[in-house]
Amino acid sequence: MIPYLPLNEINAQYNSEIESAVKRILSRGWYIMGEECSTFEREYAEYIGTQYCIGCGNGYDALWLIFNAYKQLGILHDGDKVLVPANTFIASVLAITHNNLRPLFVDPNPTSYLAGEEEMLASIADDTKAVLLVHLYGQNSFSRKLAETCSERGIIIVEDNAQAQGALYQGARTGSLGDAAAHSFYPGKNLGAMGDAGAVTTNNEELANAIKALHNYGSNRKYIHESIGVNSRLDEIQAAVLRIKLRNLDALNKKRQEVAQNLIAGIENPLVQTPFIPDYSQHVFHIFPLLCGSRDALQKHLALKGIETQIHYPSPVHLQECYRQYATLSLPVAERLSQQEISLPCHPLLNDNDIQQIVEAVNNYHS
Ligand SMILES: *Cc1c(COP(=O)(O)O)cnc(C)c1O
Repeated sequence: MIPYLPLNEINAQYNSEIESAVKRILSRGWYIMGEECSTFEREYAEYIGTQYCIGCGNGYDALWLIFNAYKQLGILHDGDKVLVPANTFIASVLAITHNNLRPLFVDPNPTSYLAGEEEMLASIADDTKAVLLVHLYGQNSFSRKLAETCSERGIIIVEDNAQAQGALYQGARTGSLGDAAAHSFYPGKNLGAMGDAGAVTTNNEELANAIKALHNYGSNRKYIHESIGVNSRLDEIQAAVLRIKLRNLDALNKKRQEVAQNLIAGIENPLVQTPFIPDYSQHVFHIFPLLCGSRDALQKHLALKGIETQIHYPSPVHLQECYRQYATLSLPVAERLSQQEISLPCHPLLNDNDIQQIVEAVNNYHS
């Protein structure tokens, strides 16, 4: 049996380091907003290549905090339109609508599965106020040309970097490319905590200060509340875990890339489409998406061969029950992806035999 993502095995290598970090925290007796959090924030900002990093509760909160801070700064307003890819995890859209902003769904590119330069440029209108770029599956969706257009028109670029920690665009890390970026450290992400955790990165000092207050009840000084905030903080134990795992992130991403390259090189089946890797950016394969016209049958076939797979995502956001007001939109690429996408195991512990087994199982599939 090849599991989709054996998290306990992936994390086992850090057990002793994490145990000593937890002991260190226990003996200090300081549990939130302490040394581990501020050190992680500094180390992660340095890794991503931004001036500021603010740890918070999870990836959704990171997105929400960015949009809310822009509203509190008077840069975004109720009802403002935000472009967002039609194929993404629902959190990207929830952060927009929970801030009283309006999502405009952009159908992704059928080759990259991303809504990037071409798709966003074609969707920008006079009333576009922000673009949320989602580096889906681990692949960058930022481009200089898009950034130039946005900066000329005063459009904010927010990055959803939940799936792409460590990915590069022309040598710079995703999460350092737009005006602000949200990161999720959900356990299954490329940089995963042992619980919920997230962060915002930015070079904008004003925005960073607003978020620093906002995520701690609108307060930078105890019991002085300058804005209407929330509680979304990164605790010391999660910060310590993230510091340990961050040191190994590049090595593990490299393994993921090798696994993905071997899968792409080995898979030869006219019934499936393997992912496209552009040369100007580095994909970190949080997810290895395969497309297949008879996806459900392929998933059953792989399960019979002992290969566990997942689907990202079985229904696009605009067709979810909670967003029924968008159900009449026509977003054919996102809809097709939701019917054809299947995610193969693609994690750092897969060995050559596992890869061979996956490749053979896919190649032996006949509809
Ligand atoms: C995981 C994820 C999020 C949300 O992160 P959480 O930490 O689970 O809140 C947001 N956007 C995308 C694209 C994600 O994959």
